[in-house]
Amino acid sequence: MFDNLTDKFDRAFKVLKGQGQITEVNVAETLKEVRRALLDADVNFKTAKDFTNQIKEKALGRDVLTAVKPGQLLVKIVQEELAELMGGEQEDVDLKGNPAIILMSGLQGSGKTTFSGKLANYLKTKKGKKPLLVACDIYRPAAIDQLHVVGDQIGVEVFSNRDEKDPVKISQAAIQYARSNGHNVVIVDTAGRLAIDEQMMNEITAVKRAINPSETLFVVDAMTGQDAVNTAKAFNERLNFDGVVLTKLDGDTRGGAAISIKSVVNKPIKFIGTGEKMEAIDLFYPKRMADRILG
Ligand code: GDP
Repeated sequence: MFDNLTDKFDRAFKVLKGQGQITEVNVAETLKEVRRALLDADVNFKTAKDFTNQIKEKALGRDVLTAVKPGQLLVKIVQEELAELMGGEQEDVDLKGNPAIILMSGLQGSGKTTFSGKLANYLKTKKGKKPLLVACDIYRPAAIDQLHVVGDQIGVEVFSNRDEKDPVKISQAAIQYARSNGHNVVIVDTAGRLAIDEQMMNEITAVKRAINPSETLFVVDAMTGQDAVNTAKAFNERLNFDGVVLTKLDGDTRGGAAISIKSVVNKPIKFIGTGEKMEAIDLFYPKRMADRILG
């Protein structure tokens, strides 16, 4: 994961690590390299600039130049700030309410349906919940089939109604069904489009208003870099979601989305997807991710 970025950071710190005497010039050069590494990883310009300015301030505040091991201290500051940039503490999904209602949003192909299954499986096996998956894509019958396949795979019931064309009615009926059948979590998988469009936004905001979820998650493909961040911004403006799910982190992603999404939309990344299998789900720990990136 993020191998390229790790290499670049490593190279940026090389000068500092080898040098006995660290000067202001060394620090400035290192920070320039750090910024370049972030930009290459597809972090947006403002985030990268703010980040390195912040490091500079912290380095001054902690007297890096006169420290016993200046290089190590600067690396530590970068590590701490990177974790902070990505969200600070880990935030889990909110399961208040009976049933707790989780609404999934995102573009088509982002991995929404796969993640709905992964989350149901996680809540069932790790938290002892009895989830109900709800198929609310009224445009693509194949998406309903896909959710049924996923549900069968993990032994979780799927609610769908192919004759109903109103996602608000489907989700409301599903919640009724969950109440009558002892499901304590309802996961609503909604329709996605290939690009942001008004109808999709209206539809999902109507569903959100009608079912009042305890958690609205926005699912996005990490491979799409700054597009992921822009899409997150557009969804958040309309939907005011609670958390982000970054999928496809097992692929050759550069890391930009993971690093900048929190600072742009001010919502935490809660989960990551690391493969196509139902078990390929992880909670997102900013500190661990920062440690991993810095190698
Ligand atoms: P949706 O249209 O948003 O519901 O997206 P899908 O759940 O159908 O996923 C689109 C494609 O991405 C499928 O081929 C999934 O198997 C794949 N996919 C989803 N999540 C991941 C992931 O974390 N890693 C990888 N490698 N593939 C994923």
